[in-house]
Amino acid sequence: MQNAPNHSILINWKKHGFGCAKTCTYCSWRGSPHLPHGAQEQDAVSKFIDQCNKSFITISGGADPLYKLDENRSALLSMIDTIKAHGLHTRIITREVAAIASLKGHVQQVSISLDQEVMSEIERYRSEWRYLEVEYSLVLPPVPQATLQRLMPQYAHLQRKLGGRLLLRENLNSLFPVVPAALTSGHRGLVFVPKKLCLQSRYLLTREFWGHEIIQDAQPLMRRLMSCQDAYLFGGVVKHLLAPEIHTEIQDIDLIATSDEVMTLLEEPPVSDYLSGNSIGLIET
Ligand code: SF4
Repeated sequence: MQNAPNHSILINWKKHGFGCAKTCTYCSWRGSPHLPHGAQEQDAVSKFIDQCNKSFITISGGADPLYKLDENRSALLSMIDTIKAHGLHTRIITREVAAIASLKGHVQQVSISLDQEVMSEIERYRSEWRYLEVEYSLVLPPVPQATLQRLMPQYAHLQRKLGGRLLLRENLNSLFPVVPAALTSGHRGLVFVPKKLCLQSRYLLTREFWGHEIIQDAQPLMRRLMSCQDAYLFGGVVKHLLAPEIHTEIQDIDLIATSDEVMTLLEEPPVSDYLSGNSIGLIET
């Protein structure tokens, strides 16, 4: 069913803190007040699965679902069994490359999130994944579309090297709009995944959410601020807009407001949505 939303169960096995060995700067989940600590109740998982109209459920971070798998294996397998009992299959998103092979017979699909360290480990473990459907995913840098287009030949080369499907994920923190068609390679092995897909997906954390309720999308906010003649942006966000390849993080959004119109704008969606999870440095004049 093409338009049915993806359903993802977000895992954080750690009773206290965040169960992922990585520290990605673009991580949307570390520090989220909605993260579970330990597995969700089976009833909540069953109710969530019942609403899924796709053939699979994704188990994902949150943190990393395969983090310290020796300790968390029985909880993970019990969740996978619940999914199987509903007639669906399980897709796992992970960076714990060494743990993947031990899921053979339990999961059908594994999506490996790439970073440099993961890349260096793939060759070592790849031969153990023969019976699994393995794909790879890469979060694109938060840069303008023209830069991404220039990078496409490199991504195509990477896909050929990996030999499996490579998903290019739009950076959730990117301020720069992307036209998906411009990043479509025409090759089935290289697929662009717009952030819209995440914003329109369903997530089970401590409770159920739509993606747009828990993922902060700064693009509409920036559109509003940049079209407001009484708001003057400065600081980190301007550095990022001018040279995103050098200043890759937005850091803060600082602005000078010269009229009440800006205050009204800050109190309305989508700006107020963004402010519920972030802060803006504001100087009123
Ligand atoms: S690997 Fe995933 S869960 Fe872990 S820090 Fe990076 S984005 Fe967050």
